Amino acid sequence: MNPASTSPGSELPARIRKDPAALHPPPHLRDPAATAARFVWDDARALVDGLPDGGGLNIAHEAVDRHLRHGRGDRTALRWIGKSGERRAFTYAELAAASNRFASALAGLGVQPGERVFVLMGRLPELYVAMLGALKARCAVTPLFSAFGPEPIATRCAMGDARVLVTTPELYQRKVAGLRERLPGLRHVVLVGDAPADGPGLRRWGELVDTASADYRIGPTDPEMPSLLHFTSGTTGRPKGAVHVHQAVLAHAASGRFALDLHDDDIYWCTADPGWVTGTSYGLIAPLVCGVTSVVVEAEFDAATWYDVLERERISVWYTAPTAIRMMMKLGTGPLAGRDLSSLRFLASVGEPLNPEAVVWGQQAFGLPFHDNWWQTETGGIMIANVPALDIKPGSMGRPLPGITAAIATRDGAGHVHLIDDPGVEGELVLKTPWPSMMRDYLDEHARYQKCFSEGWYFTGDLARRDDEGYYWFVGRADDVIKTSGHLIGPFEVESALLEHPAVAEAGVIGIPDPTAGEVVKAFVALKPGFEGSEALRRELLGHARKRLGAAVAPKAIDFRANLPKTRSGKIMRRLLKARELGLPEGDLSTLESDER
Ligand code: AMP
Repeated sequence: MNPASTSPGSELPARIRKDPAALHPPPHLRDPAATAARFVWDDARALVDGLPDGGGLNIAHEAVDRHLRHGRGDRTALRWIGKSGERRAFTYAELAAASNRFASALAGLGVQPGERVFVLMGRLPELYVAMLGALKARCAVTPLFSAFGPEPIATRCAMGDARVLVTTPELYQRKVAGLRERLPGLRHVVLVGDAPADGPGLRRWGELVDTASADYRIGPTDPEMPSLLHFTSGTTGRPKGAVHVHQAVLAHAASGRFALDLHDDDIYWCTADPGWVTGTSYGLIAPLVCGVTSVVVEAEFDAATWYDVLERERISVWYTAPTAIRMMMKLGTGPLAGRDLSSLRFLASVGEPLNPEAVVWGQQAFGLPFHDNWWQTETGGIMIANVPALDIKPGSMGRPLPGITAAIATRDGAGHVHLIDDPGVEGELVLKTPWPSMMRDYLDEHARYQKCFSEGWYFTGDLARRDDEGYYWFVGRADDVIKTSGHLIGPFEVESALLEHPAVAEAGVIGIPDPTAGEVVKAFVALKPGFEGSEALRRELLGHARKRLGAAVAPKAIDFRANLPKTRSGKIMRRLLKARELGLPEGDLSTLESDER
């Protein structure tokens, strides 16, 4: 498609040139630099309506009800494709009625604004309806990933004081029922499906929601009222609950246009699960706020199924992730032969580093490059992106969106920020505060929240470089969290689960590079006296972790060690475990107290 210049000694183009005038439809951001120079967040207010009669700002109103007022109620909002190929579609009017019913049902249960509604299920239509309904009821919503095991689910529900849980009978039995005593505040469990629902506070979706009133008036919603509570992982301690507010919808409305270039008649597919922040901000909110048809696919990744979806559903804008792209690359372009993918016009990727080969493979396979973009749970929306009208430098995350000021910085012991102006120098990626979708707190951990900010800058925890044209290049994490298949895993949560096993004395968990998943989780374990590091025990520990944590979080490999390297304060030195595993320099060992060798 676009002329590309090649960097010396490499087959890969250093730059994929874009001609904004040749793009159809004309991109929302025709001249990114000019828009960035004049854009202020107040401008984004023109993209939303606000609640009638000065009632404030509510995400669900902007995502759904607003379109009815603009005569767009008959357009398809969600098109759902089930695991066995069954399909259901909701117009904006139908989605408005369905989410009203859930909001009415919550009111009928006595659930109050501000209380928390958790959803735990695969990508079923009820998941999306429940989230929108709970937002209308002014509850804070937490979507949980259905591949989590009982432990991460119970931890998050307890931390978030879940009042209502919407799940399926099968997930409830397998993952929640056994830990219910840890959740005294959980008053209502709404089960989606036909299986019998007997037990305290258990209700069937069909009986509760289908019969509730489709008339619901959203109460006054302060733009600063909590809307979503997304859990993310840190290096130490419990997961962090990032608190977001309704005002975030301004960033979703703007970035849906600026970064994903969503236009009215787009058929858009975000492959992410709402259990991870991308699947909520860009699998639910942004596409609906922008008024497009959003396709939801229940099945997990399978290249043939995905190509079928792209072709049959006539997808025009596709937002996916590096691990999936690399899995498709492994199969080559053979499975694409004879397919008509001419509806595709824009491909984007997020969540982990997108290698240049993957960017360029998009061109070979689809005639379009993948556009990498960067953000994180805490930022609530896309911050840095390769937008349609900007040349792509494969391997770069792109440039900050209008309204976002990024920089590379360090901070000293006194908390002073030192911006690094020289291009090409590595430092921490920082963002100037505030922006509408910025997290407002870590739940019950205000001190931990405050540590992320200094002198008006938010410290992202990512290391990066900026080049002389203002493009940002991801270098790595500044901490020990692990990114596997796009999912952020806290080593502490995995270590804690391993320590529950009677044979384990110490556990240290790291990410090791993997050509497809980016990183995979690996554990090092020291056993208690009397236990042998046998193959049978290794398998038992892998099984134990999988049962407690779920497949998405559990380690894929375990090595036994006599001891683990520790600091004087007794902290396992994951950094050292990693350096040794990968044969890298061991770095500063001045804090090393006891070693494995
Ligand atoms: P999460 O909060 O789970 O969305 O994870 C956010 C983290 O994923 C970021 O802090 C980065 O470490 C990583 N990440 C997200 N997008 C990208 C990207 N485009 N390139 C490299 N890393 C990314």
